[in-house]
Order: sequence, then structure tokens, then C-alpha cells
Amino acid sequence: MDLSDFSLEGKLAVVTGGNRGLGQGMAIALAKAGADIVSVQRSGESPETLALVEALGRRCYAVACDLAELQTGEDLAANIEDQFGPVDILVNNAGIQRRHPAEQFPLEEWDLVMQVQLRSVFMLCQAFGKRMLERGSGKIINIASLLSFSGGLTVPAYAAAKGGVAQLTKALANEWSSRGVNVNAIAPGYMATEMNTALIGDSVRSGQIMDRIPAKRWGSPEDMGGTAVFLASEAARYIHGQIICVDGGWMAR
Ligand code: NDP
Repeated sequence: MDLSDFSLEGKLAVVTGGNRGLGQGMAIALAKAGADIVSVQRSGESPETLALVEALGRRCYAVACDLAELQTGEDLAANIEDQFGPVDILVNNAGIQRRHPAEQFPLEEWDLVMQVQLRSVFMLCQAFGKRMLERGSGKIINIASLLSFSGGLTVPAYAAAKGGVAQLTKALANEWSSRGVNVNAIAPGYMATEMNTALIGDSVRSGQIMDRIPAKRWGSPEDMGGTAVFLASEAARYIHGQIICVDGGWMAR
């Protein structure tokens, strides 16, 4: 092992949802390690991430794509590679949450959560993974959740999708690990992002969560960076199909 194994110098990383939250935290960390960034989100604009990445001397591009509407990852992968070059790292991070009691959960919302959180993840793994396999190298990082391992309350679609992301990660690792492509996942714990605005604003629930976190604080986008850089780097070359919790010790309890 050489410390240069952690460098992402000259690599190109696609981060879905890189415009804010955990995606932005990981995009900045990947850029600090040397990667150029393509951030994919609905608006196609990512001014804050762009400024932060460019301040690090790396290139950053923003691409518009509504993952809920995606029918295949092929066009997106082809467009990105035609414009910016071969993609070395794919971080499937974009996500949404919908909360309703299971017996009242609207099927349209089930479909939306599944499309964004699971189906599009597979589509992008397939489209970018195919290209990585052709080149014999690549790193895919899927963002799972603690709800990949447990059911939660009032989030049946999200839990089902994130359970699927964990299993998909292992399934792809089984097929691709001998062909130069590493597929792994990160399972964040409770992170202070827009997704959790309502939860953080509920002082009772927020206090209960804080009590349960051994590290005694919510996670931040910056907390995702080290694990993302590691999994994206050659230092993780023999790691396949793992789901690494970045959760302040939640799963240790
Ligand atoms: P945010 O709500 O802060 O960010 C979500 C991101 O996803 C935004 O960049 C958003 O961009 C993008 N996005 C949402 N829907 C779409 C869509 N249809 N097409 C393209 N992009 C979309 O969430 P977090 O940063 O907290 O979450 C990031 C990931 O981490 C998600 O997969 C989430 O499930 C997971 N996670 C989060 C945890 C937490 O505690 N926060 C815990 C465990 C997992 P835009 O809206 O501009 O399109």
C-alpha cells in the first residue's frame, strides 16, 4: 500500500444529487482527493458545489436529469462521457423520502420512491458499469441507509428501496469484482440535511434520536467524505459488496 493509492488525481466522478446535502459533501471530498466532478440533479444547476469544487482547482459540471423520469441510464451515461470523458467513479446518492402509515401509503408515492431510490440506481449502475467493465476499471458507491437493515416507521417504500440498494450492491459485486469494477455502499445514519428538516424541527423526536446516537451528534455531509474517497480509491481495490455504516455508532448499539 502506498499513500498515493488514496489519490483520485485525474479521475472523473459522477455524483447524483451533488448539488446539496450528502452528495455535496462527497463531491467536495472527492475533489479534494483530486477528482473532477459531474453533479446530476433535476435543476441542472449546482452553483454552490461548482464554486466549492472549482476553488479546489478541480473542474465541476452540472447536468440536468430527473431520475424519476429516467427510462434507461444509457443516454445520460453516453452524454456525460461524450462531453466530459470516461467516468471512473459513480456515486448513486440522489434520493427522496415519503412518510405515511403503511396502510395509507399512496401507490404513486411508492412508485416515485422506488424509481428514484432503486430503479434509477440500477439503471445508472448498468449504464456506467457497462462502460467501466469495458475499460476494466471503475468504482461504484451506492448510498444505502440504516433502513437497508431495519424497517423504520411510516417509511415502507424507502426501507424497501434501501434494502434493495444493499442487495443490489452485493449482486453487482458478485458479478463484477473479477472484472475490475468495485461496487460498494455507504449507509449513513441520521444526517443533518434537507431530507431531515422536519425531523430536526421536532424537538421531541430529534432529542430521542440524539440520545440513541453513541457519538451524540447528528452526522454532517462532511462526515461522508472520508469513506467516499476511500471506496473510490485504489486503496479499496479488494473491497467488494460491502455496506459501510457512517452513523456515529448507531449500529454498534
Ligand atoms: P437531500 O434531500 O439533502 O438531497 C437529495 C438530493 O437528491 C438532492 O441533491 C436532490 O437534487 C437529489 N434528487 C432528489 N430527487 C431527484 C430526482 N428525481 N432526480 C435527480 N436528483 C434528485 O438528501 P440527503 O443529502 O440527506 O440524502 C442523500 C442520500 O442519502 C439519499 O439517497 C438519502 O436517501 C440517503 N440517506 C440520507 C440520510 C440522512 O439522514 N440524511 C440517511 C440515510 C441515507 P434536486 O432536488 O435539486 O433534484
